[in-house]
Amino acid sequence: MSESKHEPKKRFPLTLDALTGDAGRKRASMSSRSNSPQTASQNAARYAPPERSATASRPPAGAPLLIERAPNSSMVSEAVRKAMVARIAQQGVKDPQVLAAMEAVPRHFFLEPGLASQAYIDASLPIGYHQTISQPYIVARMIEVLKAGARQPMKRVLEIGTGCGYQAAVLAQVATEVYSIERIKPLHELARANLRALRIPNLRLHYGDGMLGFPQLAPFDGIILAAAGLQVPPGLLDQLSVGGRLIAPVGSRDQVLQLICRIGENEWTTETLEHCHFVPLRPGTHG
Ligand code: SAH
Repeated sequence: MSESKHEPKKRFPLTLDALTGDAGRKRASMSSRSNSPQTASQNAARYAPPERSATASRPPAGAPLLIERAPNSSMVSEAVRKAMVARIAQQGVKDPQVLAAMEAVPRHFFLEPGLASQAYIDASLPIGYHQTISQPYIVARMIEVLKAGARQPMKRVLEIGTGCGYQAAVLAQVATEVYSIERIKPLHELARANLRALRIPNLRLHYGDGMLGFPQLAPFDGIILAAAGLQVPPGLLDQLSVGGRLIAPVGSRDQVLQLICRIGENEWTTETLEHCHFVPLRPGTHG
């Protein structure tokens, strides 16, 4: 968390003032090109844009304050997104608030124009720097598990591994305050650029090592990791409120989702859920 302490207040809420010259974002043409889900690492390796700039994929200005109807969102993208949500529901995600959040956030905003046509297939996709945007189903599933049994609405949630910012945007639809940490600076900046036009006032992004959590803001009702470690970093467990829940992929090649609940001052329970595929959790920062 090297820099989070010094994060200037003016970064939040995200403003439109720095938005200039971004009319060039190509609208996703929502073809239903099929692409079977692959592992996050395979997908991350498949594509690495050579000189990715944080401003390259900014959506245009003019968004409403809430993501009721996202800017640059066409009827076509809304229809394809509805179909994605229907598939997620078929796969077993039931929480209506989570499904509504998945429907509200335009996933194609978070991808390079060349990949935007694949935004609503159920697969992780590369975002550069050997990282991926998570598979829609797993985003929905993890948020549903995090929410279930937590006090409603979840007040303060921490995400580790912002990537392009997609999951953070979804989380911000279901929690009062969301903080998200990314260790790769250009990705942190990319997420800020991607999120700017959506103007999500309850989401704050930080550049730093999320393995250390965010002690200054703890405790959290929920902590969600978007990258897999061999274990959940122990420091994060103390940053859960009593009654708080943490969900994380754990493992290297063979990964499972783990749900950890803090049930007392010094008592946690651990439950193993389904198999999953995430990019690795790494220590330190990468400028
Ligand atoms: N949340 C993303 C998924 C991003 S992929 C989504 O919306 O789809 C996982 C991200 O975790 C990568 O960007 C990677 O750089 C980041 N990451 C890995 N280890 C980290 C750490 N220790 N702290 C913060 N971010 C980390």
